[in-house]
Amino acid sequence: FEAPSRQRGVAIPQGISKVKFFEVLNELRYEIGEEWVELNDKELKGGWYMEHPNTHDMMNILDAEELVASAVVYPGDVEDVQKIVGWANTWRIPLFPISMGRNFGYGGAAPRVRGSVTVDLGKRMNKILSIDPDDYTCLVEPGVSYYALYEELKKRGYDHMWIDTPDLGGGSVLGNALDRGVGYTPYGDHWSVHSGLEVVLPTGEVLRTGMGALPGSNTWQTFPYGFGPYSDGIFSQSNFGIVTKMGMALMPNPGGYESFMYTFPKEEDLAPLMEIIRPLRISNILENVAQLRHCLQTIAVRGQPRSKYFSGRGPIPEEIIHEEMKKTPLGDCTWVYYGMSYGPPHIRKYKLDVVHQEFLKIPGARRIDPSTLPADEYFWSRDKIAAGIPDLEELLWVNWMPNGSHIAFSPIAPIRGIDATKLYSLARKRHDEAGIDLMPAFCVGLREMHLIVEIVFDSSDISMRRKADRCLRDMIDDAAKLGYGEYRTHLVLMDQVAGTYNWNGNALMRFNERLKDALDPNGILAPGRCGIWPERYRGRGWEI
Ligand code: ADP
Repeated sequence: FEAPSRQRGVAIPQGISKVKFFEVLNELRYEIGEEWVELNDKELKGGWYMEHPNTHDMMNILDAEELVASAVVYPGDVEDVQKIVGWANTWRIPLFPISMGRNFGYGGAAPRVRGSVTVDLGKRMNKILSIDPDDYTCLVEPGVSYYALYEELKKRGYDHMWIDTPDLGGGSVLGNALDRGVGYTPYGDHWSVHSGLEVVLPTGEVLRTGMGALPGSNTWQTFPYGFGPYSDGIFSQSNFGIVTKMGMALMPNPGGYESFMYTFPKEEDLAPLMEIIRPLRISNILENVAQLRHCLQTIAVRGQPRSKYFSGRGPIPEEIIHEEMKKTPLGDCTWVYYGMSYGPPHIRKYKLDVVHQEFLKIPGARRIDPSTLPADEYFWSRDKIAAGIPDLEELLWVNWMPNGSHIAFSPIAPIRGIDATKLYSLARKRHDEAGIDLMPAFCVGLREMHLIVEIVFDSSDISMRRKADRCLRDMIDDAAKLGYGEYRTHLVLMDQVAGTYNWNGNALMRFNERLKDALDPNGILAPGRCGIWPERYRGRGWEI
Protein backbone atom coordinates (compact mmCIF):
# COMPACT_ATOMS: atom_id res chain seq x y z
CA PHE A 1 0.00 0.00 0.00
CA GLU A 2 1.11 3.52 -0.70
CA ALA A 3 1.16 5.85 2.27
CA PRO A 4 -0.96 8.94 1.62
CA SER A 5 0.44 12.11 3.19
CA ARG A 6 -1.55 14.06 5.77
CA GLN A 7 -2.60 17.24 4.12
CA ARG A 8 -5.40 17.80 6.58
CA GLY A 9 -3.18 17.36 9.64
CA VAL A 10 -4.23 15.64 12.86
CA ALA A 11 -7.95 14.82 12.85
CA ILE A 12 -9.32 16.83 15.78
CA PRO A 13 -12.82 15.81 16.97
CA GLN A 14 -15.53 18.33 16.14
CA GLY A 15 -16.58 20.73 18.87
CA ILE A 16 -13.22 21.11 20.59
CA SER A 17 -10.21 23.25 19.70
CA LYS A 18 -6.90 21.64 18.86
CA VAL A 19 -5.20 23.17 21.89
CA LYS A 20 -7.95 22.01 24.23
CA PHE A 21 -7.95 18.53 22.70
CA PHE A 22 -4.21 18.15 23.29
CA GLU A 23 -4.72 19.34 26.85
CA VAL A 24 -7.51 16.85 27.62
CA LEU A 25 -5.57 14.06 25.96
CA ASN A 26 -3.00 14.60 28.70
CA GLU A 27 -5.75 14.00 31.23
CA LEU A 28 -6.47 10.69 29.55
CA ARG A 29 -2.76 9.83 29.67
CA TYR A 30 -2.80 10.57 33.37
CA GLU A 31 -5.78 8.24 33.90
CA ILE A 32 -4.75 5.32 31.68
CA GLY A 33 -0.95 5.64 31.58
CA GLU A 34 1.26 7.71 29.32
CA GLU A 35 2.28 4.80 27.10
CA TRP A 36 -1.31 3.71 26.43
CA VAL A 37 -2.49 6.87 24.68
CA GLU A 38 -1.12 7.64 21.22
CA LEU A 39 -1.79 10.78 19.23
CA ASN A 40 -2.36 9.88 15.59
CA ASP A 41 -0.04 12.44 14.04
CA LYS A 42 1.93 10.09 11.83
CA GLU A 43 1.63 9.28 8.18
CA LEU A 44 -1.36 7.14 7.29
CA LYS A 45 0.53 3.98 6.56
CA GLY A 46 -0.79 0.87 4.91
CA GLY A 47 0.18 -2.62 5.98
CA TRP A 48 -1.27 -6.03 5.50
CA TYR A 49 -3.96 -8.06 7.24
CA MET A 50 -1.84 -9.18 10.20
CA GLU A 51 0.09 -5.91 10.59
CA HIS A 52 -2.52 -3.32 9.88
CA PRO A 53 -2.98 0.25 11.09
CA ASN A 54 -5.49 0.83 13.88
CA THR A 55 -5.97 4.52 13.09
CA HIS A 56 -7.77 4.45 9.74
CA ASP A 57 -9.15 2.26 6.97
CA MET A 58 -6.15 1.15 4.95
CA MET A 59 -8.57 -0.01 2.26
CA ASN A 60 -10.17 3.40 1.97
CA ILE A 61 -12.99 3.87 -0.47
CA LEU A 62 -13.37 7.55 0.41
CA ASP A 63 -10.40 9.92 0.58
CA ALA A 64 -7.73 8.38 2.81
CA GLU A 65 -8.00 11.20 5.34
CA GLU A 66 -11.73 10.94 5.80
CA LEU A 67 -12.19 8.09 8.31
CA VAL A 68 -9.25 8.79 10.58
CA ALA A 69 -8.85 8.67 14.36
CA SER A 70 -7.38 11.55 16.36
CA ALA A 71 -5.78 9.23 18.88
CA VAL A 72 -5.79 5.65 20.06
CA VAL A 73 -6.16 4.51 23.65
CA TYR A 74 -5.35 1.03 24.92
CA PRO A 75 -7.35 0.09 28.03
CA GLY A 76 -5.85 -2.67 30.20
CA ASP A 77 -9.05 -3.67 31.99
CA VAL A 78 -12.72 -2.91 32.47
CA GLU A 79 -11.97 -0.08 34.90
CA ASP A 80 -9.82 1.57 32.24
CA VAL A 81 -12.70 1.31 29.76
CA GLN A 82 -14.97 2.99 32.31
CA LYS A 83 -12.43 5.77 32.83
CA ILE A 84 -12.14 6.33 29.08
CA VAL A 85 -15.91 6.55 28.77
CA GLY A 86 -16.07 8.99 31.69
CA TRP A 87 -13.41 11.16 30.07
CA ALA A 88 -15.22 11.14 26.73
CA ASN A 89 -18.47 12.21 28.42
CA THR A 90 -16.74 15.08 30.19
CA TRP A 91 -15.35 16.50 26.94
CA ARG A 92 -17.97 15.08 24.57
CA ILE A 93 -15.35 13.35 22.48
CA PRO A 94 -16.48 10.57 20.14
CA LEU A 95 -15.02 7.14 20.91
CA PHE A 96 -14.79 4.24 18.49
CA PRO A 97 -14.25 0.84 20.12
CA ILE A 98 -12.60 -1.95 18.16
CA SER A 99 -11.52 -5.39 19.25
CA MET A 100 -8.81 -6.14 16.70
CA GLY A 101 -9.90 -4.08 13.73
CA ARG A 102 -9.47 -6.75 11.10
CA ASN A 103 -12.95 -6.67 9.62
CA PHE A 104 -11.59 -5.47 6.31
CA GLY A 105 -14.22 -5.01 3.66
CA TYR A 106 -16.39 -3.34 6.31
CA GLY A 107 -14.04 -0.56 7.44
CA GLY A 108 -11.22 -2.28 9.31
CA ALA A 109 -10.21 -0.29 12.38
CA ALA A 110 -11.45 3.05 11.09
CA PRO A 111 -13.96 5.18 13.04
CA ARG A 112 -17.13 6.38 11.34
CA VAL A 113 -16.59 9.96 12.55
CA ARG A 114 -13.28 11.59 11.64
CA GLY A 115 -11.37 12.58 14.77
CA SER A 116 -12.88 9.92 17.05
CA VAL A 117 -10.60 8.42 19.68
CA THR A 118 -10.20 4.75 18.86
CA VAL A 119 -10.49 2.47 21.86
CA ASP A 120 -8.28 -0.46 20.86
CA LEU A 121 -9.49 -3.09 23.30
CA GLY A 122 -7.64 -5.99 21.77
CA LYS A 123 -4.06 -5.00 22.43
CA ARG A 124 -4.10 -5.45 26.20
CA MET A 125 -7.45 -7.09 26.93
CA ASN A 126 -6.63 -10.33 25.19
CA LYS A 127 -7.13 -13.09 27.73
CA ILE A 128 -8.98 -16.35 27.30
CA LEU A 129 -10.70 -16.19 30.65
CA SER A 130 -11.97 -19.75 30.62
CA ILE A 131 -12.35 -22.82 28.49
CA ASP A 132 -14.75 -25.34 29.98
CA PRO A 133 -13.98 -28.87 28.74
CA ASP A 134 -17.24 -30.28 30.13
CA ASP A 135 -19.69 -27.63 28.95
CA TYR A 136 -17.82 -26.99 25.68
CA THR A 137 -17.76 -23.23 26.19
CA CYS A 138 -15.28 -20.40 26.50
CA LEU A 139 -15.19 -16.86 27.83
CA VAL A 140 -12.98 -14.40 25.99
CA GLU A 141 -11.82 -10.80 26.00
CA PRO A 142 -11.85 -8.64 22.86
CA GLY A 143 -8.24 -9.32 21.85
CA VAL A 144 -8.58 -13.10 21.51
CA SER A 145 -8.17 -14.09 17.87
CA TYR A 146 -9.34 -17.33 16.27
CA TYR A 147 -5.70 -18.37 16.04
CA ALA A 148 -5.16 -17.74 19.75
CA LEU A 149 -8.27 -19.69 20.77
CA TYR A 150 -7.41 -22.54 18.43
CA GLU A 151 -3.85 -22.76 19.70
CA GLU A 152 -4.97 -22.67 23.32
CA LEU A 153 -7.28 -25.65 22.77
CA LYS A 154 -4.37 -27.54 21.19
CA LYS A 155 -2.03 -26.55 24.01
CA ARG A 156 -4.44 -27.81 26.63
CA GLY A 157 -4.96 -31.03 24.70
CA TYR A 158 -8.67 -30.41 24.29
CA ASP A 159 -9.01 -32.37 21.08
CA HIS A 160 -12.66 -33.07 21.81
CA MET A 161 -13.57 -29.46 21.04
CA TRP A 162 -13.44 -27.37 17.88
CA ILE A 163 -13.66 -23.65 17.32
CA ASP A 164 -15.38 -22.07 14.34
CA THR A 165 -13.35 -19.62 12.26
CA PRO A 166 -14.36 -17.19 9.50
CA ASP A 167 -12.47 -17.10 6.17
CA LEU A 168 -9.56 -15.32 7.85
CA GLY A 169 -8.44 -16.39 11.30
CA GLY A 170 -6.66 -13.26 12.53
CA GLY A 171 -9.77 -11.40 13.66
CA SER A 172 -11.34 -11.13 17.09
CA VAL A 173 -13.70 -13.90 18.21
CA LEU A 174 -15.71 -11.33 20.15
CA GLY A 175 -15.57 -8.55 17.53
CA ASN A 176 -16.68 -10.83 14.73
CA ALA A 177 -19.62 -12.21 16.70
CA LEU A 178 -20.72 -8.69 17.64
CA ASP A 179 -20.68 -7.74 13.98
CA ARG A 180 -22.61 -10.97 13.23
CA GLY A 181 -19.86 -12.48 11.12
CA VAL A 182 -19.97 -16.10 10.04
CA GLY A 183 -17.77 -19.19 9.79
CA TYR A 184 -18.05 -22.53 8.07
CA THR A 185 -18.65 -25.30 10.60
CA PRO A 186 -22.15 -26.09 11.89
CA TYR A 187 -21.37 -23.43 14.54
CA GLY A 188 -20.79 -20.83 11.83
CA ASP A 189 -23.47 -18.35 12.93
CA HIS A 190 -21.26 -16.80 15.61
CA TRP A 191 -23.89 -14.61 17.18
CA SER A 192 -26.27 -17.55 17.61
CA VAL A 193 -23.68 -19.58 19.53
CA HIS A 194 -22.52 -16.79 21.83
CA SER A 195 -23.79 -16.82 25.41
CA GLY A 196 -23.37 -13.89 27.75
CA LEU A 197 -21.83 -10.44 27.39
CA GLU A 198 -20.20 -8.02 29.76
CA VAL A 199 -20.79 -4.47 28.59
CA VAL A 200 -19.58 -1.02 29.62
CA LEU A 201 -22.45 1.33 28.82
CA PRO A 202 -21.78 4.75 27.28
CA THR A 203 -22.41 6.32 30.68
CA GLY A 204 -19.83 4.09 32.34
CA GLU A 205 -21.91 1.46 34.20
CA VAL A 206 -20.97 -2.18 33.66
CA LEU A 207 -23.57 -4.89 33.17
CA ARG A 208 -23.60 -8.59 32.43
CA THR A 209 -26.34 -10.05 30.27
CA GLY A 210 -28.23 -13.33 30.58
CA MET A 211 -27.27 -15.52 33.55
CA GLY A 212 -24.29 -13.22 34.17
CA ALA A 213 -26.68 -10.85 35.94
CA LEU A 214 -27.11 -13.38 38.75
CA PRO A 215 -24.13 -13.14 41.09
CA GLY A 216 -22.30 -16.45 41.35
CA SER A 217 -24.18 -17.95 38.39
CA ASN A 218 -22.52 -20.98 36.81
CA THR A 219 -24.58 -20.99 33.62
CA TRP A 220 -23.50 -17.68 32.04
CA GLN A 221 -21.99 -19.49 29.06
CA THR A 222 -24.59 -22.24 28.76
CA PHE A 223 -27.94 -20.43 28.91
CA PRO A 224 -27.93 -17.21 26.90
CA TYR A 225 -31.28 -15.75 27.95
CA GLY A 226 -31.34 -15.33 31.74
CA PHE A 227 -34.52 -13.63 32.87
CA GLY A 228 -36.45 -10.72 31.41
CA PRO A 229 -35.87 -9.03 28.07
CA TYR A 230 -33.07 -10.57 26.07
CA SER A 231 -30.78 -7.56 25.82
CA ASP A 232 -27.75 -8.99 23.97
CA GLY A 233 -29.20 -8.12 20.58
CA ILE A 234 -28.97 -4.37 21.10
CA PHE A 235 -25.21 -4.61 21.59
CA SER A 236 -24.54 -6.26 18.23
CA GLN A 237 -24.15 -4.07 15.14
CA SER A 238 -24.85 -1.01 17.24
CA ASN A 239 -23.23 1.73 19.26
CA PHE A 240 -24.95 1.11 22.60
CA GLY A 241 -22.05 -0.30 24.60
CA ILE A 242 -18.45 -1.48 24.72
CA VAL A 243 -18.30 -5.23 25.12
CA THR A 244 -15.48 -6.40 27.36
CA LYS A 245 -16.27 -10.14 27.71
CA MET A 246 -18.20 -12.66 25.69
CA GLY A 247 -19.05 -16.32 26.19
CA MET A 248 -19.23 -18.74 23.32
CA ALA A 249 -20.09 -22.37 22.67
CA LEU A 250 -17.41 -24.67 21.26
CA MET A 251 -18.30 -27.47 18.90
CA PRO A 252 -17.78 -31.13 19.78
CA ASN A 253 -15.21 -32.79 17.54
CA PRO A 254 -17.47 -34.70 15.12
CA GLY A 255 -15.09 -37.66 14.89
CA GLY A 256 -14.03 -37.16 11.30
CA TYR A 257 -14.60 -34.85 8.37
CA GLU A 258 -14.31 -34.77 4.62
CA SER A 259 -14.44 -31.83 2.24
CA PHE A 260 -15.96 -32.11 -1.17
CA MET A 261 -16.13 -29.95 -4.27
CA TYR A 262 -18.42 -29.93 -7.28
CA THR A 263 -18.25 -27.82 -10.41
CA PHE A 264 -21.14 -26.75 -12.63
CA PRO A 265 -20.63 -25.63 -16.22
CA LYS A 266 -23.10 -22.88 -16.98
CA GLU A 267 -24.16 -19.54 -15.56
CA GLU A 268 -27.81 -20.67 -15.82
CA ASP A 269 -27.11 -23.60 -13.51
CA LEU A 270 -27.38 -21.17 -10.61
CA ALA A 271 -31.18 -21.28 -10.30
CA PRO A 272 -31.76 -25.07 -10.43
CA LEU A 273 -28.79 -25.56 -8.13
CA MET A 274 -30.34 -23.34 -5.48
CA GLU A 275 -33.52 -25.41 -5.63
CA ILE A 276 -31.39 -28.50 -4.98
CA ILE A 277 -29.32 -26.91 -2.21
CA ARG A 278 -32.28 -25.53 -0.19
CA PRO A 279 -33.89 -28.77 1.03
CA LEU A 280 -30.49 -30.42 1.52
CA ARG A 281 -29.28 -27.52 3.65
CA ILE A 282 -32.45 -27.12 5.72
CA SER A 283 -32.45 -30.84 6.49
CA ASN A 284 -28.74 -30.70 7.39
CA ILE A 285 -27.57 -33.15 4.75
CA LEU A 286 -25.43 -30.18 3.75
CA GLU A 287 -24.16 -29.52 7.25
CA ASN A 288 -22.20 -26.32 7.01
CA VAL A 289 -22.56 -22.99 5.22
CA ALA A 290 -22.94 -24.11 1.64
CA GLN A 291 -20.67 -22.03 -0.56
CA LEU A 292 -21.23 -21.59 -4.24
CA ARG A 293 -18.57 -19.41 -5.78
CA HIS A 294 -18.20 -17.97 -9.23
CA CYS A 295 -15.12 -19.47 -10.89
CA LEU A 296 -13.46 -16.04 -11.29
CA GLN A 297 -12.89 -16.08 -7.55
CA THR A 298 -11.16 -19.41 -7.92
CA ILE A 299 -8.82 -17.80 -10.44
CA ALA A 300 -8.27 -14.70 -8.30
CA VAL A 301 -7.47 -16.72 -5.18
CA ARG A 302 -4.48 -18.18 -6.99
CA GLY A 303 -2.88 -14.85 -6.01
CA GLN A 304 -1.85 -13.52 -9.42
CA PRO A 305 -2.86 -9.98 -10.41
CA ARG A 306 -5.62 -9.45 -12.92
CA SER A 307 -3.07 -7.87 -15.27
CA LYS A 308 -1.57 -11.32 -15.77
CA TYR A 309 -4.77 -12.38 -17.52
CA PHE A 310 -6.19 -9.20 -18.98
CA SER A 311 -5.01 -5.63 -19.30
CA GLY A 312 -7.97 -4.11 -21.16
CA ARG A 313 -10.68 -1.89 -19.72
CA GLY A 314 -13.96 -3.20 -18.37
CA PRO A 315 -14.64 -6.56 -16.78
CA ILE A 316 -12.41 -9.46 -17.72
CA PRO A 317 -14.03 -11.25 -20.71
CA GLU A 318 -15.80 -14.59 -20.24
CA GLU A 319 -13.58 -16.33 -22.82
CA ILE A 320 -10.45 -15.50 -20.85
CA ILE A 321 -12.02 -16.75 -17.62
CA HIS A 322 -12.94 -20.06 -19.21
CA GLU A 323 -9.55 -20.45 -20.90
CA GLU A 324 -7.89 -19.95 -17.52
CA MET A 325 -10.25 -22.36 -15.78
CA LYS A 326 -9.27 -25.06 -18.26
CA LYS A 327 -5.69 -24.77 -17.00
CA THR A 328 -6.70 -25.37 -13.37
CA PRO A 329 -7.18 -28.79 -11.76
CA LEU A 330 -10.91 -27.99 -11.62
CA GLY A 331 -11.25 -27.73 -15.38
CA ASP A 332 -13.68 -25.39 -17.12
CA CYS A 333 -16.82 -24.45 -15.21
CA THR A 334 -18.79 -21.43 -13.99
CA TRP A 335 -19.75 -22.35 -10.44
CA VAL A 336 -17.73 -24.12 -7.78
CA TYR A 337 -19.36 -25.65 -4.70
CA TYR A 338 -17.29 -26.13 -1.54
CA GLY A 339 -18.79 -28.27 1.20
CA MET A 340 -17.89 -30.44 4.14
CA SER A 341 -19.33 -33.59 5.63
CA TYR A 342 -18.82 -34.36 9.32
CA GLY A 343 -18.68 -37.55 11.35
CA PRO A 344 -17.14 -41.00 11.00
CA PRO A 345 -16.87 -42.52 7.47
CA HIS A 346 -20.14 -44.48 7.45
CA ILE A 347 -22.15 -41.45 8.51
CA ARG A 348 -20.43 -39.25 5.95
CA LYS A 349 -21.03 -41.79 3.22
CA TYR A 350 -24.78 -41.70 3.74
CA LYS A 351 -24.90 -37.91 3.41
CA LEU A 352 -22.35 -37.63 0.60
CA ASP A 353 -24.23 -40.17 -1.50
CA VAL A 354 -27.41 -38.11 -1.26
CA VAL A 355 -25.51 -34.93 -2.16
CA HIS A 356 -23.88 -36.65 -5.13
CA GLN A 357 -27.14 -37.96 -6.46
CA GLU A 358 -28.81 -34.56 -6.15
CA PHE A 359 -25.95 -32.42 -7.53
CA LEU A 360 -25.55 -34.64 -10.59
CA LYS A 361 -29.06 -33.70 -11.64
CA ILE A 362 -27.41 -30.59 -13.12
CA PRO A 363 -26.14 -31.58 -16.58
CA GLY A 364 -22.37 -31.43 -16.73
CA ALA A 365 -21.95 -31.34 -12.92
CA ARG A 366 -18.69 -32.92 -11.79
CA ARG A 367 -17.35 -34.03 -8.43
CA ILE A 368 -13.67 -33.17 -8.17
CA ASP A 369 -11.79 -35.93 -6.41
CA PRO A 370 -9.74 -34.21 -3.67
CA SER A 371 -6.97 -36.80 -4.00
CA THR A 372 -6.23 -35.35 -7.46
CA LEU A 373 -5.67 -31.84 -6.09
CA PRO A 374 -2.20 -30.47 -5.32
CA ALA A 375 -1.42 -29.45 -1.73
CA ASP A 376 -1.49 -25.74 -2.58
CA GLU A 377 -4.94 -25.86 -4.16
CA TYR A 378 -7.41 -23.44 -2.53
CA PHE A 379 -9.71 -26.39 -1.79
CA TRP A 380 -7.42 -27.36 1.08
CA SER A 381 -7.78 -23.94 2.63
CA ARG A 382 -11.56 -24.35 2.59
CA ASP A 383 -11.05 -27.80 4.07
CA LYS A 384 -9.16 -26.32 7.03
CA ILE A 385 -11.66 -23.53 7.60
CA ALA A 386 -14.64 -25.88 7.57
CA ALA A 387 -12.77 -27.94 10.19
CA GLY A 388 -12.33 -24.88 12.42
CA ILE A 389 -8.62 -24.46 11.66
CA PRO A 390 -7.75 -20.78 11.14
CA ASP A 391 -6.12 -19.90 7.85
CA LEU A 392 -5.09 -16.86 5.78
CA GLU A 393 -5.06 -18.11 2.22
CA GLU A 394 -8.31 -16.33 1.42
CA LEU A 395 -6.27 -13.11 1.42
CA LEU A 396 -4.70 -13.99 -1.90
CA TRP A 397 -7.52 -12.71 -4.09
CA VAL A 398 -6.82 -9.20 -2.80
CA ASN A 399 -3.74 -9.29 -5.09
CA TRP A 400 -6.13 -9.02 -8.03
CA MET A 401 -5.50 -5.26 -8.03
CA PRO A 402 -2.47 -3.17 -7.08
CA ASN A 403 -2.99 -1.68 -3.58
CA GLY A 404 -5.61 -4.41 -3.39
CA SER A 405 -8.52 -3.24 -1.27
CA HIS A 406 -11.94 -4.76 -0.99
CA ILE A 407 -15.42 -3.78 0.06
CA ALA A 408 -18.47 -6.00 0.14
CA PHE A 409 -22.07 -5.99 -1.00
CA SER A 410 -23.77 -8.63 1.13
CA PRO A 411 -27.54 -8.94 0.81
CA ILE A 412 -29.71 -11.65 2.36
CA ALA A 413 -32.16 -13.63 0.24
CA PRO A 414 -34.26 -16.77 0.41
CA ILE A 415 -32.50 -19.89 -0.94
CA ARG A 416 -34.39 -19.91 -4.20
CA GLY A 417 -33.37 -20.01 -7.80
CA ILE A 418 -35.40 -16.95 -8.63
CA ASP A 419 -33.82 -14.86 -5.89
CA ALA A 420 -30.29 -15.98 -6.70
CA THR A 421 -30.88 -15.07 -10.33
CA LYS A 422 -32.33 -11.65 -9.52
CA LEU A 423 -29.41 -10.76 -7.27
CA TYR A 424 -26.85 -12.13 -9.66
CA SER A 425 -28.36 -10.16 -12.56
CA LEU A 426 -28.44 -6.88 -10.72
CA ALA A 427 -24.87 -7.33 -9.53
CA ARG A 428 -23.80 -8.26 -13.07
CA LYS A 429 -25.53 -5.20 -14.54
CA ARG A 430 -24.01 -2.75 -12.05
CA HIS A 431 -20.55 -4.31 -12.32
CA ASP A 432 -20.67 -4.10 -16.12
CA GLU A 433 -21.69 -0.45 -15.95
CA ALA A 434 -18.81 0.30 -13.60
CA GLY A 435 -16.35 -1.87 -15.51
CA ILE A 436 -15.60 -3.97 -12.41
CA ASP A 437 -14.99 -7.73 -12.26
CA LEU A 438 -17.83 -9.59 -10.59
CA MET A 439 -16.86 -12.23 -8.02
CA PRO A 440 -19.99 -13.43 -6.26
CA ALA A 441 -20.16 -16.13 -3.62
CA PHE A 442 -23.51 -17.46 -2.39
CA CYS A 443 -23.20 -18.55 1.22
CA VAL A 444 -26.22 -20.54 2.33
CA GLY A 445 -26.87 -20.22 6.06
CA LEU A 446 -29.77 -22.46 7.00
CA ARG A 447 -32.98 -20.95 5.66
CA GLU A 448 -31.47 -17.95 3.91
CA MET A 449 -28.43 -17.14 1.90
CA HIS A 450 -25.93 -14.32 2.11
CA LEU A 451 -24.70 -13.25 -1.29
CA ILE A 452 -21.20 -11.90 -0.78
CA VAL A 453 -19.85 -9.80 -3.62
CA GLU A 454 -16.40 -8.44 -2.85
CA ILE A 455 -15.28 -5.61 -5.07
CA VAL A 456 -11.50 -5.56 -5.31
CA PHE A 457 -10.16 -2.09 -6.08
CA ASP A 458 -6.98 -0.07 -6.14
CA SER A 459 -7.29 2.36 -3.22
CA SER A 460 -4.78 4.75 -4.80
CA ASP A 461 -6.93 5.11 -7.93
CA ILE A 462 -9.55 7.80 -7.29
CA SER A 463 -11.58 7.00 -10.38
CA MET A 464 -11.74 3.32 -9.52
CA ARG A 465 -12.74 4.16 -5.94
CA ARG A 466 -15.59 6.30 -7.24
CA LYS A 467 -16.76 3.58 -9.58
CA ALA A 468 -16.70 1.00 -6.80
CA ASP A 469 -18.65 3.33 -4.52
CA ARG A 470 -21.25 4.03 -7.24
CA CYS A 471 -21.56 0.34 -8.04
CA LEU A 472 -22.16 -0.54 -4.38
CA ARG A 473 -24.70 2.20 -3.82
CA ASP A 474 -26.59 1.25 -6.95
CA MET A 475 -26.63 -2.43 -5.94
CA ILE A 476 -27.92 -1.57 -2.47
CA ASP A 477 -30.77 0.49 -3.93
CA ASP A 478 -31.61 -2.05 -6.62
CA ALA A 479 -31.62 -4.87 -4.08
CA ALA A 480 -33.82 -2.94 -1.63
CA LYS A 481 -36.39 -2.32 -4.37
CA LEU A 482 -36.61 -6.09 -4.82
CA GLY A 483 -36.89 -6.68 -1.07
CA TYR A 484 -33.30 -7.64 -0.26
CA GLY A 485 -31.31 -6.01 2.55
CA GLU A 486 -27.66 -6.21 3.61
CA TYR A 487 -26.69 -8.29 6.65
CA ARG A 488 -23.71 -6.06 7.40
CA THR A 489 -21.96 -3.22 5.67
CA HIS A 490 -18.96 -0.95 5.39
CA LEU A 491 -18.84 2.22 7.50
CA VAL A 492 -19.42 4.50 4.52
CA LEU A 493 -22.55 2.63 3.43
CA MET A 494 -24.20 2.31 6.84
CA ASP A 495 -26.52 5.30 6.43
CA GLN A 496 -27.73 4.06 3.08
CA VAL A 497 -28.26 0.49 4.25
CA ALA A 498 -29.97 1.58 7.47
CA GLY A 499 -32.20 3.76 5.30
CA THR A 500 -33.46 0.73 3.40
CA TYR A 501 -34.80 -0.83 6.63
CA ASN A 502 -37.49 1.83 6.74
CA TRP A 503 -40.79 -0.02 7.17
CA ASN A 504 -43.60 2.02 8.72
CA GLY A 505 -41.97 5.41 8.51
CA ASN A 506 -38.55 4.30 9.77
CA ALA A 507 -40.06 2.82 12.94
CA LEU A 508 -36.99 0.66 13.60
CA MET A 509 -34.54 3.55 13.30
CA ARG A 510 -36.72 5.75 15.51
CA PHE A 511 -36.66 2.99 18.12
CA ASN A 512 -32.86 2.71 17.79
CA GLU A 513 -32.51 6.46 18.14
CA ARG A 514 -34.64 6.44 21.27
CA LEU A 515 -32.41 3.75 22.75
CA LYS A 516 -29.31 5.64 21.68
CA ASP A 517 -30.43 8.87 23.31
CA ALA A 518 -31.39 7.10 26.52
CA LEU A 519 -28.21 5.03 26.80
CA ASP A 520 -25.75 7.59 25.45
CA PRO A 521 -27.12 11.05 26.24
CA ASN A 522 -23.90 12.81 25.28
CA GLY A 523 -23.60 10.87 22.05
CA ILE A 524 -20.00 9.79 22.61
CA LEU A 525 -20.04 6.16 21.49
CA ALA A 526 -19.35 5.37 17.82
CA PRO A 527 -21.70 8.04 16.43
CA GLY A 528 -23.20 6.96 13.13
CA ARG A 529 -22.29 3.30 13.41
CA CYS A 530 -24.94 1.23 11.62
CA GLY A 531 -26.67 4.49 10.73
CA ILE A 532 -27.54 5.32 14.35
CA TRP A 533 -26.69 8.93 15.12
CA PRO A 534 -27.02 10.44 18.57
CA GLU A 535 -29.26 13.46 18.92
CA ARG A 536 -26.34 15.89 18.91
CA TYR A 537 -25.40 14.77 15.40
CA ARG A 538 -28.78 14.09 13.82
CA GLY A 539 -29.81 16.16 10.86
CA ARG A 540 -26.53 18.09 10.83
CA GLY A 541 -25.10 16.68 7.63
CA TRP A 542 -23.18 13.70 9.01
CA GLU A 543 -24.99 11.10 6.97
CA ILE A 544 -23.37 9.97 3.73
P1 ADP B 1 -12.36 -8.11 13.78
O1 ADP B 1 -13.11 -8.94 14.72
O2 ADP B 1 -12.54 -8.58 12.36
O3 ADP B 1 -10.93 -7.90 14.13
P2 ADP B 1 -13.35 -5.65 14.96
O4 ADP B 1 -12.73 -6.06 16.19
O5 ADP B 1 -12.98 -4.30 14.47
O6 ADP B 1 -13.07 -6.67 13.79
O7 ADP B 1 -14.94 -5.73 15.12
C1 ADP B 1 -15.82 -5.31 14.13
C2 ADP B 1 -16.61 -4.06 14.55
O8 ADP B 1 -17.44 -4.38 15.66
C3 ADP B 1 -15.74 -2.90 15.01
O9 ADP B 1 -15.40 -2.04 13.94
C4 ADP B 1 -16.59 -2.22 16.05
O10 ADP B 1 -17.45 -1.25 15.45
C5 ADP B 1 -17.42 -3.32 16.63
N1 ADP B 1 -16.79 -3.84 17.85
C6 ADP B 1 -15.78 -4.71 17.89
N2 ADP B 1 -15.46 -5.00 19.14
C7 ADP B 1 -16.28 -4.30 19.94
C8 ADP B 1 -16.44 -4.21 21.34
N3 ADP B 1 -15.69 -4.93 22.16
N4 ADP B 1 -17.39 -3.38 21.81
C9 ADP B 1 -18.18 -2.68 20.97
N5 ADP B 1 -18.09 -2.74 19.64
C10 ADP B 1 -17.14 -3.53 19.11
